[in-house]
Amino acid sequence: MILVTNSEKDGTGRGRFPRADFDNALAQEVINKGIDLEFETEVIGIEFNGTDSITTVKNKNGETKEIHAKFVIDSSGYGRVLPRLLDLEKPSKLSPHSAIFSHVKDSNREEGTEGTLISFDIIETEVWLWVIPFSNGNTSVGIVGPTEYIDKLSENGDTMEALKKAISLSDYYVKRFGDVDFLFEPKHLKDYSCSVKQLFGDGFALTGNASEFLDPVFSSGMAFATEGGMTAAKLAIRQLNGEKVDWQTEFADYILYGVDVFTTYVKEWYTGNLQELFFHQPENPDVKRKICAVLAGYVWDKKNTFVRIHDTAIKNLAEFIKTEKIQS
Ligand SMILES: Cc1cc2nc3c(=O)[nH]c(=O)nc-3n(C[C@H](O)[C@H](O)[C@H](O)COP(=O)(O)OP(=O)(O)OC[C@H]3O[C@@H](n4cnc5c(N)ncnc54)[C@H](O)[C@@H]3O)c2cc1C
Repeated sequence: MILVTNSEKDGTGRGRFPRADFDNALAQEVINKGIDLEFETEVIGIEFNGTDSITTVKNKNGETKEIHAKFVIDSSGYGRVLPRLLDLEKPSKLSPHSAIFSHVKDSNREEGTEGTLISFDIIETEVWLWVIPFSNGNTSVGIVGPTEYIDKLSENGDTMEALKKAISLSDYYVKRFGDVDFLFEPKHLKDYSCSVKQLFGDGFALTGNASEFLDPVFSSGMAFATEGGMTAAKLAIRQLNGEKVDWQTEFADYILYGVDVFTTYVKEWYTGNLQELFFHQPENPDVKRKICAVLAGYVWDKKNTFVRIHDTAIKNLAEFIKTEKIQS
């Protein structure tokens, strides 16, 4: 088995950030298992012909070579290698949202638990600011909103100014982040949601962001990348061992069920219905536990009502709360 990635070997491709440590730990584990992992090597072309495929890769010295494989799993994230090469791109069903984010030296971080919590501030129903503290004292800060809103924030193309403006809109975070320096020029991720026409084909499967990316709001990205990657790998092994695999049922339908459930929650976050439930007092512990389970990635657990009837549960409950409020 051969894995190629255009990341650098020590993870420095993503800088000195904890995400790089996570990616590096995964890469090292793969190498420990005896897999041939080629760093700084980019997939630039691929051809499928029956039971074989030829992938053309280019290393950092510009040298190219061909790799033959009976099965290819594309986990290239936003590189979206096969969707681009095979024209599988499809617009997302979600309305266009964008983000601007950076990391800061979190010198005003509170002592104790408060300072270590991942938290949001909701600026407007569809606009929120994320704060993700890292163990090394740095913190990821980002603003998310409808593309039109984020475009307006960064009208002159100055993302530094845009993120500063966003932080100043947060009464809660302005004290902590109002005067900090960004560790890199804030990145602008425009219309980040994406989708594909199909999740598999003869000799290949798409996983993680190379297939579908919804929204950063509930960390569904990592859930789908790991679940999709694992499911595809197990099925590919069975197929290579001569078993007939039903990729539609066992892969596409399975993954898309989870995508559907998470999509409902993302949509209902932006309609404000989910926020209505989150902030309702007194809390209903059973509802809270079940919704938390969904958002923690248990989107395939059909024993959970909030998975099974996801498309109506949130909307109906929010309507009920709103009606109660009007009547009281
Ligand atoms: C700002 C931001 C914050 C986020 N926060 C969270 C969060 O808190 N929690 C969460 O769950 N998700 C989060 N996500 C989403 C999450 O990062 C992704 O959903 C997840 O990393 C997808 O994993 P992946 O394996 O599909 O792709 P990636 O992790 O992007 O990996 C793709 C790999 O493919 C390589 N590659 C790309 N093109 C090529 C090529 N042509 N040839 C060879 N290799 C190639 C890349 O170098 C990379 O190593 C966030 C995303 C962003 C942008």
